[in-house]
Amino acid sequence: MELKFVQTTCPYCGTGCSFNLVVKEGKVVGTQPYTRSPVNEGKVCPKGTYAHEFVNSPDRLTKPLIKKDGRFVEATWDEAYDLIVQKFRSYRPDEFAALASARVSNEENYLMMKFTRGVMKSRHIDHCARLCHASTVAGLAASFGSGAMTNSIPDIAESKCVFVIGSNTFEQHPLIGRRIVQARMNGAKVIYADPRYTPTARQADLYMQFVPGTDVAILNGLMQEIIRNGWEDKEFIETRTRDYEKLKEVVMKEDYSLENVSKISGIPVEHLKTAAEWFGTIRPGAILYSMGITQHTVGVDNVRSIANIQMLTGNLGKPGAGVNALRGQNNVQGACDMGCLPNVFTGYQKVTDEGVHKKFADAWGFPDGICEPETGYEVTVMMNVLVDNPGELKCMYIMGENPMLSDPDINHVREAIGNLEFLVVQDIFLTETAELADVVLPSACYAERDGTQTSTERRVQMWRKAQEPPGEAKEDWKILCELAAKMGYAEQFPYQDMEEIFNEIAALTPSYHGMSYERLERPEALHWPCPTAEHPGTPILHREKFSHPDGLGVFAPIEWQPPAEVPDAEYPYILTTGRILWHWHTGSMTRRSRTLDSEVPTGWIEINAGDAKELGIQNGEIVRAVTRRGSVNVPAKVTPDIMRGVMFMPFHFAECPANLLTHNALDPIAKIPEFKACAVRVEKITEA
Ligand code: SF4
Repeated sequence: MELKFVQTTCPYCGTGCSFNLVVKEGKVVGTQPYTRSPVNEGKVCPKGTYAHEFVNSPDRLTKPLIKKDGRFVEATWDEAYDLIVQKFRSYRPDEFAALASARVSNEENYLMMKFTRGVMKSRHIDHCARLCHASTVAGLAASFGSGAMTNSIPDIAESKCVFVIGSNTFEQHPLIGRRIVQARMNGAKVIYADPRYTPTARQADLYMQFVPGTDVAILNGLMQEIIRNGWEDKEFIETRTRDYEKLKEVVMKEDYSLENVSKISGIPVEHLKTAAEWFGTIRPGAILYSMGITQHTVGVDNVRSIANIQMLTGNLGKPGAGVNALRGQNNVQGACDMGCLPNVFTGYQKVTDEGVHKKFADAWGFPDGICEPETGYEVTVMMNVLVDNPGELKCMYIMGENPMLSDPDINHVREAIGNLEFLVVQDIFLTETAELADVVLPSACYAERDGTQTSTERRVQMWRKAQEPPGEAKEDWKILCELAAKMGYAEQFPYQDMEEIFNEIAALTPSYHGMSYERLERPEALHWPCPTAEHPGTPILHREKFSHPDGLGVFAPIEWQPPAEVPDAEYPYILTTGRILWHWHTGSMTRRSRTLDSEVPTGWIEINAGDAKELGIQNGEIVRAVTRRGSVNVPAKVTPDIMRGVMFMPFHFAECPANLLTHNALDPIAKIPEFKACAVRVEKITEA
């Protein structure tokens, strides 16, 4: 039997590995290495290896569904479109909100943004970047003028000192973890800070276990020690930055002496000293971080502190250095780039800038105009508005997202969605959120379409179609074009294929101007910014100057503040959450992958062995985890690898959902929730 090999990009994490899909008789049946990608050089992690298994799952949605009398019935596309159009037309612009998707292509995210702002004239568009790296976008934009990972993935291997904080890289971005190993084999020191002794900790030369939510204190303490010893990069500070004195005024306070930081964080003074010495004296030094830094009420402060230490040590704009914010999902970077955020059009062009607003309005040519030049609601704010002010938002269109498992305080989300008059969900499976919809539209998965996605290192890469979607499922871009046409805007959505959409994106987006499908066909693809057709792309940002108008990086004086909810007598432990190697986000794909699901079939709560002994809890026992938001029965995993006083739950599992427990307190700037720290108690379950 003849086999076909179709090179594509992994649909899971933001690393952006390439592999070949193996196609037999028109169906995807396996994966094979593709060795020419400079990102992963033919290697993949287990999720990539088994990325074909969910594609032809019998659970795939194959027909539109309309809810009648509380039950879904199959419908034709015309019936589904007619109902959606009738409902969508009945709402005012501010009554409509949309969620784009970190999983679908750039082109489809762009169309969802255009549909929301152009067809519906609504300001309210966002997506799950709000839940993972909104603090990075806001924090790095404030410090450097541009909110993205500064260096490339292969470049990490060039570092001589790698400092990983708030990222379990070896489980969450395994092929980036490989670059840390390469750096270490080249002689680099690896410092790792995390409340859990994870697989990443096993690769470190120095492991620092710390209390969740004390990141700013730790970073301020390290900066104080670096300055005290004269290890700062004086020339870089002098020529490339401003406001250094303001930073110094805060970090040199007694509050951030290593002794005080040790009391706050739980890290021994000697470890803090060693970390400061290594990071202060060994160059180049790279920092890698992820959601352990961003998912806090002080997420932006945490990110700005990381920017501070990298400017202090001159570790920016050069190989082996940088602020490496590891973005979670395959195309979360791209969905942000495409303007699926409530404050920007593509390429972070501000919606409130009249010139930008006019540029998009003119280019799109909607005869009745587009949304007002005002910022809309973030997804976390949408949920709060739905609960606190019922009737203000009435209708939502969600493409490829599952807030009923991914958002904090799921009971709150259920109440919010319950207050909608009309919900459309477009997805490949009947997710927990789709179950609540009025209309469900079946879409194509990554293996069933062309298009581009932008990985964490700003590399724009191709997806390539390997098989047809199942049943009557359609590619998201086709659904959006057909729906726009039914709404009366066929002229504004005239595309015949994804390439035409990409060309429109490139024309309107300075950082993508020089890109085309022809140029992206190369295995190395292109990093943005790529302003002209001759430009080679930009693997390392801020080489000569930062992106602020004066070209300087800006130090921010940041004081440490504890999390919004801290342990007390009733809830005496800290709960933190995260991902594991074998599963992906809300599990809609990995839990339908036979191999991945059989490796890890359900969730757990990690409890320190000393805490478990005090509580009388045995390994494997089902316990009840309780917070102020709700309770979950979940197996206990008793381990010495987690800090005393801290508990951890992976958030992939609908039967023991960590996000029933998490806190939706928000960072005031980024509006990201504090997933990484809330107060919890654990109870033994006794027979009634
Ligand atoms: Fe896919 Fe990420 Fe694994 Fe690479 S590291 S194969 S992108 S899940």
